[in-house]
Amino acid sequence: MNRKSFLKLLSFSCLFFLSLPYKLLISATKKILNPELSEAQKNIMFNEGTEKPFSSNLLKEKRKGFYHCANCGNKLFSSTAKFDSGTGWLSFSEALPGAFKTKVDYSFGMRRIEYHCANCGAHHGHVFDDGPSATGKRFCNNGLCLIFKPEN
Ligand SMILES: [Zn+2]
Repeated sequence: MNRKSFLKLLSFSCLFFLSLPYKLLISATKKILNPELSEAQKNIMFNEGTEKPFSSNLLKEKRKGFYHCANCGNKLFSSTAKFDSGTGWLSFSEALPGAFKTKVDYSFGMRRIEYHCANCGAHHGHVFDDGPSATGKRFCNNGLCLIFKPEN
């Protein structure tokens, strides 16, 4: 093995070991807290799956209230941030402060920002910079990960 490929190997293994505690931390914080979650919900929230577009009943939801994490109940979005993006997925211009944590997701050959519940670690969707409102953000959320609680 020459010096160059040895250094390459060394930097790869360093990267692996450096990211290991982070990976362990993520899996430790990801827990199923709601025993009533369906297989489809678990696949999205713990396997980073995506529901079929235009499949969520919440797309039609127009009432005032809050959207909560289906796993832990954490309050994530206000109905005032919801808009119709035409993509077939629930879209929000902003999340409530501290609701989510993000990470860069390189799956499907794209660079996207994945976000997950700050409380339980469950995956919810991806956030894009093409939102129509002042925030410029579009939180593209799987409806199956959310529970809507109307005001009053
Ligand atoms: Zn949660």
